Amino acid sequence: MPDSAEPSIFTRIVAREIPADIVFENDTIIAFRDINPQAPVHLLVVPKTEEYRNVSELAEGDPALLAEIVATAKRLADEHCGGDFRLIFNEGETTGQTVFHVHAHVLGATQGDTLAE
Ligand code: 5GP
Repeated sequence: MPDSAEPSIFTRIVAREIPADIVFENDTIIAFRDINPQAPVHLLVVPKTEEYRNVSELAEGDPALLAEIVATAKRLADEHCGGDFRLIFNEGETTGQTVFHVHAHVLGATQGDTLAE
C-alpha cells in the first residue's frame, strides 16, 4: 500500500466512487480517458492494485503486470488512434507526477492530426 491510508483517486474510479469514461477493464487493469487531455487521444492505463507508486516499483515488483500494461496500451491505441501511441510514465513530483498510483499515459492522434512535441 502507498504511504497514505486513503485510497488513491484511481482506486476510487475502480470502485465506481468517482465517475470516469472507462474504455477497458479486466481483473487486473482499468483504462479510462484522462480528465484533462493533453492530446486528441489521452488514456490512462492503471493496474487495479495501488501497491506500486511508480513504474520503477512496478518493474521491480511485478514485471508481468508492467508488460500487461504495455500490451493493453497497444490494443487501446489500435482501437482509438490507429496503432501509433506515445507511452509516458511520470515518476516523481519534478516530472509532474500527481497521482502516486502507477499509471501509463497513452497519447495518440486522431485521423488527420499528429502529436505536437
Ligand atoms: P500524473 O501527472 O500523476 O502522471 O498523471 C495523473 C493524471 O491523472 C493527470 O493527467 C490528470 O489529468 C489525471 N486525473 C486526475 N484526476 C482524475 C480523475 O478524477 N479522473 C480522470 N479521468 N483523470 C484524472
